Amino acid sequence: CGIVGVLGQHEAAPILVEALKRLEYRGYDSAGIATINDGKLDRRRAVGKLVNLSDLLVHEPLAGKSGIGHTRWATHGAPSVTNAHPHQAGPVAVVHNGIIENFRELRAELAELGATFVTETDTETVALLTQHHMSQGLGPVDAATKTLGRLEGAFALAFLFDGEEDLMIGARKGAPLAVGHGDNEVFLGSDAIALSPMTNRITYLEEGDRVVLTRSSVDIIDANGSRANRAIKTISLDN
Ligand code: GLU
Repeated sequence: CGIVGVLGQHEAAPILVEALKRLEYRGYDSAGIATINDGKLDRRRAVGKLVNLSDLLVHEPLAGKSGIGHTRWATHGAPSVTNAHPHQAGPVAVVHNGIIENFRELRAELAELGATFVTETDTETVALLTQHHMSQGLGPVDAATKTLGRLEGAFALAFLFDGEEDLMIGARKGAPLAVGHGDNEVFLGSDAIALSPMTNRITYLEEGDRVVLTRSSVDIIDANGSRANRAIKTISLDN
């Protein structure tokens, strides 16, 4: 299971698939990507090997220079296209590794609010809760932050939003997540190896960090809500 993300200068889909290939060693049962094209989120998902996703993308390409991708190791809900990530609720798309331990409680709350569930995953609650906060008037960053404050368990997460081609949010708690720094491009990945074709300049997020990314800015907020200064490391990888 793995997470990747890009706010780039080139088509995102091939970059995401290549990065996901480098995370195959972690194991997975399905995979998917979402991009923003002309301001609209769109996604493609497939069960089984990444080649199935690649084949799907040949027939149904996804354009756009901003995107997130995921290889899933199902914990809640069978491996299926519907349960594959990214999960989308209205203007929000989310990829997640790990388990949201309190998802039943969140699901019950969301059901009270009239939310409709289309998957069996714990992850869908993250997208729905963020959508709810946005429907209450919060902007994407505040909505995601409020959602993250509610989550218990272990997770690495990445968020993308409709109409926001220059915004990606990441969060790490109990699962690794790294930021890759490019030239007016920025990347997210479960590990640096995933990002090695794009950049060797890496910031490892620490436990409890969240990060708000644009192509030209990386703002990391630590577990206490304070701005954090994390080092950019130049790493050497033999690929
Ligand atoms: N718990 C999530 C799911 O079952 C994420 C699993 C993963 O880490 O890939 O969909």
